[in-house]
Amino acid sequence: MSKIIVTGGSGLVGKHLKEILPNAIYLSSKDCDLTDINKVKWLISLHNPDIVVHLAARVGGIQDNLKYPADYFDDNILINTNIVKVCKEYNVKRFIGILSTCIYPSVVDNYPMKEEDLFIGPPPPSNFSYGYAKRCLAVQIDAYNKQFGTKYNYLIPCNLYGDYDNMHDESKMHFITALLNKIRNSKDKTLHLLGTGKPLRQFMYARDLADIIKLVIDNNVTESFNVAPDFNYSIDNMAKMALKATGNDYKIVYDKPELDGQYRKDVSNKKLLKIFPNFKFTDLKEGLKQVYGKISK
Ligand code: NAP
Repeated sequence: MSKIIVTGGSGLVGKHLKEILPNAIYLSSKDCDLTDINKVKWLISLHNPDIVVHLAARVGGIQDNLKYPADYFDDNILINTNIVKVCKEYNVKRFIGILSTCIYPSVVDNYPMKEEDLFIGPPPPSNFSYGYAKRCLAVQIDAYNKQFGTKYNYLIPCNLYGDYDNMHDESKMHFITALLNKIRNSKDKTLHLLGTGKPLRQFMYARDLADIIKLVIDNNVTESFNVAPDFNYSIDNMAKMALKATGNDYKIVYDKPELDGQYRKDVSNKKLLKIFPNFKFTDLKEGLKQVYGKISK
């Protein structure tokens, strides 16, 4: 059996992956600070893994990204550069890096964006340094495969939600959890949201990404591809779906239209479905019910 280690194992995706891949070793920043290359060398020589699933990243909301752009750049560049370099040095056979659709250009002519569109423009200003740093992992992996013949790859998932999001601190919640939390806490049968509700977003249940990672391992897939469902709903549409899924008939009020962010950033899942034609993404209504059940506990 292959020995697998998972960096970022204490995060949202890591916890979902642990449910379906329990025999891997799940690591957090407490086990090893990946920004320090000597610690990364110690970690990889200690475990001597066959496969590294690399989930670890400095991840945060737009406000945090705007306030600490240098930290987002430094940490993600160091974490990614160190882990790939050391994996190659210690002859790790497979490396699966997790990127994000935030690395795609801010605007393109044709949507949904395909894998080959990755370098045709800069990432959005709101998370420019995070997006650029994570985009460099794709450059690094492609370069290593070309120069050293490694079989490393990366997956590019859209926005996520899941059972293990921070359910209590709204500043740390991802959008879907924050939306459901606002519904739960509404005192006046009104749902207050920022922006205009018009931007379109793809959201994926983190368990679906975990399933894809397991499929990639089990089938020894070495291609790199986007991971996102077909649907690309407006924020307003998702808010209405969330109200319906939770049985609440609230009025939606929008504040601060300037906080809309990118209008759309949807990516194509054609390559994914060519590799795994039978893969079915969790329906958003189902996912909303599932996460609301967790929040309400
Ligand atoms: P998360 O919940 O924020 O967890 C981040 C993980 O990275 C934690 O395990 C954290 O360890 C670890 N980490 C952070 N800094 C580290 C360091 N210096 N050294 C070692 N480990 C460190 O992240 P997630 O939501 O599961 O995301 C997993 C991956 O998917 C990330 O690469 C992210 O960019 C990508 N992604 C996420 C989303 C999303 O909406 N969440 C969307 C697209 C892509 P501690 O617990 O010890 O802090």
